[in-house]
Amino acid sequence: MKQPVAILGAGPAGLGAALSLAQRGFPVTVFERNNAVGGNAGSFELAGLRVDYGSHRLHPASDPEVLELIRGLVGDDLLTRPRHGRIRLMGRWLHFPLRAGDLALRVHPRFAVGVALDLARKILPSAPDDQGTFASILERGLGRTICQEFYFPYARKIWGMEPEAISAAQAEKRVSSGSIGKMLKRLVPGGSGSGSSQPKGVFYYPRRGFGQISESLLEAARAAGAEILLEAELKQIAPKATGAGIEFEHDGHLRSMEARHVWSTIPVTALVGLLDPKAPEPVCKAARSLRFRSMLLVYLVLPQDQFTPYDAHYFPGADLHITRLSEPKNYAAVSEPAGRTVLCAELPCQMDDDVWAMSDEALGDLVRDDLGRAGLPRPERLEGVAVRRLPHAYPLYPTGYQTHFDAIDEWLEGIPGLLSFGRQGLFAHDNTHHALYMALAASRCLGDDGSLDQAAWAAERRIFATHVVED
Ligand SMILES: Cc1cc2nc3c(=O)[nH]c(=O)nc-3n(C[C@H](O)[C@H](O)[C@H](O)COP(=O)(O)OP(=O)(O)OC[C@H]3O[C@@H](n4cnc5c(N)ncnc54)[C@H](O)[C@@H]3O)c2cc1C
Repeated sequence: MKQPVAILGAGPAGLGAALSLAQRGFPVTVFERNNAVGGNAGSFELAGLRVDYGSHRLHPASDPEVLELIRGLVGDDLLTRPRHGRIRLMGRWLHFPLRAGDLALRVHPRFAVGVALDLARKILPSAPDDQGTFASILERGLGRTICQEFYFPYARKIWGMEPEAISAAQAEKRVSSGSIGKMLKRLVPGGSGSGSSQPKGVFYYPRRGFGQISESLLEAARAAGAEILLEAELKQIAPKATGAGIEFEHDGHLRSMEARHVWSTIPVTALVGLLDPKAPEPVCKAARSLRFRSMLLVYLVLPQDQFTPYDAHYFPGADLHITRLSEPKNYAAVSEPAGRTVLCAELPCQMDDDVWAMSDEALGDLVRDDLGRAGLPRPERLEGVAVRRLPHAYPLYPTGYQTHFDAIDEWLEGIPGLLSFGRQGLFAHDNTHHALYMALAASRCLGDDGSLDQAAWAAERRIFATHVVED
């Protein structure tokens, strides 16, 4: 008889682990706080349309095993779609992801001259970079122009920090083309910059929204015997020599269970707060020091078939509040419902910012004004506005954050039977396919006898550290 595993969180990481373990015959219980699965990668219905929590695509860079798992679950509903986005750079629209021809013809002349000068300067030897921040690494690799006009204002909006105050780790995780040379190579058709045979210019997307991935994982995990508890409020995790006691509230009752393993995919800071006995003060202090960026998602329901033919518009500029606008209907290429479309605007912020508490109506007006200022039609007639709030949208990487994370990580590693992984659990700015990779990796490391292969897990952690986020 295999020993029970408790999984905290039913986003892609938690559900992926639940499915894999349940298929191997482990008794699995998943605890999810929300009334639906999928976490930040979920979907919900709005005005007759399936919409996501901000723009979500499945990237061709997905690990083959992860892609096979998703294809097996979603089947023919997994569409291959051309990327059809636009970015507003210095008041001009460019195709996004960037294309060489488009860059040459449409970019603002000041931008083109700046990049050319930056390239010329790169031939000269440059001083060593001993600061090692997001700003210094990007400026060294990509030059001033791309940084000043694109990455730096975008960074200020997305993470709410000055680029000089952001850790070098953010540059490594976020910017896959580390130099102008590599970036330009990626733009040339057949260019070698991306160094892979993955299909380019496309993404995968489930017909019923990105959340269909998690919903299919849920169904399959349940069919394999996993118990998934929604609206479960965790109260306490008490590790013991041979497992852990878990206290939780579900269906209005305080309950408890014993598990040999606790696999947590909830925010690592929340996990620290749940553990009993309490973590030592330096670990609690480290947990208080780690911060997440939150996000408001403002959905406008419009009485028209389509707003634009683009899937997403990207707004790096400081002149607008929002960072991205997506039109969910265009992701799955659906035409229903006729005469109605929904826009989703992404507005990163902190939960103590005034904007977090603004009314739906005021946020709808803010987004409409932004669209007008961006040169898009300002939607005048609305059928409705809906707002969703993501408390944990992005892990924040100010310089020095790694020391805090390491203090927590080291302490958690010493607790037998406890693993923390997934985007929130490893405080990793990752894609869904990375979260699923972690889930499958954790399952690979667990022997049928219930023992965790620590060396194999350490090796997997080194692989996770190489994950680079795709936009
Ligand atoms: C705006 C935005 C756009 C993105 N775009 C893309 C994209 O295009 N492609 C892509 O691949 N990825 C994208 N991502 C990333 C993607 O959303 C994540 O990689 C994915 O959701 C990570 O899955 P996870 O299971 O690790 O974490 P999460 O999805 O965050 O799931 C964690 C789960 O834990 C639950 N939880 C939290 N606290 C508790 C608690 N105390 N008790 C019980 N349950 C709890 C949460 O409710 C949630 O269900 C995007 C993210 C954002 C924010």
